[in-house]
Amino acid sequence: MSKYDYLVVGAGLFGAVFAHEAALHQKRVKVIEKRDHVAGNIYTKEIAGIQVHQYGAHIFHTSDKQIWDYVQQFATFNRYTNSPMANYQGKMYNLPFNMNTFSELWGVRTPAEAQRKIESQRASLNLVGTPRNLEEQAISLVGTDIYEKLIKGYTEKQWGQRAKDLPAFIIRRLPVRYTFDNNYFNDTYQGIPIGGYTQIVEKMLANDLIDVETGVDFFDHKTEYLREYPKVIFSGMIDQYFDYQLGELAYRSLRFETEELPVANYQGNAVVNYTDAATPFTRIIEHKHFEFGKGAADRTIITREYPQAWQRGDEPYYPVNNVENNALYKAYAALAKHEQNVIFGGRLGQYRYFDMHQVIHAALVVARRELD
Ligand code: FAD
Ligand code: UDP
Repeated sequence: MSKYDYLVVGAGLFGAVFAHEAALHQKRVKVIEKRDHVAGNIYTKEIAGIQVHQYGAHIFHTSDKQIWDYVQQFATFNRYTNSPMANYQGKMYNLPFNMNTFSELWGVRTPAEAQRKIESQRASLNLVGTPRNLEEQAISLVGTDIYEKLIKGYTEKQWGQRAKDLPAFIIRRLPVRYTFDNNYFNDTYQGIPIGGYTQIVEKMLANDLIDVETGVDFFDHKTEYLREYPKVIFSGMIDQYFDYQLGELAYRSLRFETEELPVANYQGNAVVNYTDAATPFTRIIEHKHFEFGKGAADRTIITREYPQAWQRGDEPYYPVNNVENNALYKAYAALAKHEQNVIFGGRLGQYRYFDMHQVIHAALVVARRELD
């Protein structure tokens, strides 16, 4: 038998929070990670004094004070407020959808004018009951102009499916506001950790009771691990764990193209979305704008984000939570109940569109249940 109490599979946020809490309870933990670094998708790396978000822009936001206080142990956060811009065929619009956007689109000046405009466009939908898909949901929230210019192209590139075939909940993540407020999130707390996200996971794992090994894939020695460790915390893909025996869950992948440019300021904002259908990428991130005034004065680093179909072996960035996949996930979750010594968690283990604060919450719930 192993000298450890737990094997944690995956050194992302879920695995790191669990390992940290377990060590605080005097448990010995082994963490294995198949990538060559810890931190999972929140991994940031310093290049030219700039913290580069290696797996897409990550903005921490939550309304849960306990979660906000919890992460403050591991980093100091700045007061970054996410206010992405949209570029539609060369014209710039503010996001999320708010009075600035409505004014840029239609020249309206008051909330009443904007509401009348949206109401008249919504009428074309002839909607009976609740919206059945993302297209209906979007038009019913913001009308046809915004749907055509700022939602349809972006969404269909992002997900590789028609907006008509996607679940409505995806678009409900975005606020719609009748105020001149470009804050992308409604949450009470928001910011970027000064010095990047990787330090958060490194500090969580910095305990003598935790051993971390990177470049190790659980599936290379699954049988031995399950035999030797009293308990496994698994934050990889749940369908892969069960050898896809009930079928494959769908994921969406991404390709990141990062470039260092000899200019001080490329796009004037951390995030610019390209919302037309013809541009192959969804957004350009300019990393230095996440940390005001940091990094090289004469250089900048940008990343273009290209959505990709997912196949086995690719990085599964997003679960595709439509009705079919959710039902399949439920069937896997039922199998998981019989794996008495394995706990499944995180974005891949629970097959859920989790943000960072939700992953921390989920890991703390598991830790409390398991350790208290
Ligand atoms: P992961 O970070 O995926 O960690 C799982 C780890 O397990 C990975 O490192 C993986 O390599 C490892 N692993 C998998 N299988 C195995 C195996 N067989 N053996 C060993 N190791 C294995 N959240 C926000 O709050 N704000 C944002 O702005 C935001 N933006 C995002 C942008 C993008 C493009 C993406 C993809 C996500 C974004 N998120 C954001 C979500 C955030 O990334 C997740 O909530 C968080 O990283 C999930 O942590 P996790 O530990 O569940 O998963
Ligand atoms: N979305 C859009 N236009 C935009 C930004 C977002 O239509 O300019 C839609 C798109 O369907 C996306 C969803 O809103 O999948 C959620 O956006 P969010 O920014 O939360 O996506 P994520 O950061 O998770 O990729």
